[in-house]
Amino acid sequence: MAKSISCHDAGKDCGWSANAPTEEELMVVIEEHVKAEHKEIELTPENVANIKTLIKDI
Ligand SMILES: [Zn+2]
Repeated sequence: MAKSISCHDAGKDCGWSANAPTEEELMVVIEEHVKAEHKEIELTPENVANIKTLIKDI
């Protein structure tokens, strides 16, 4: 089962979404997007845990 996330589900005014075969691969893509587009979000362990709750199985 692949993994999917969208910024819209996180309450962001952002149309970005992504999917990847595994959560680990998806987190790499998410971190790149957050660093590029959501510089206000610090990738603390707490925030990473919150992001992971938004990941869906597709
Ligand atoms: Zn975004």
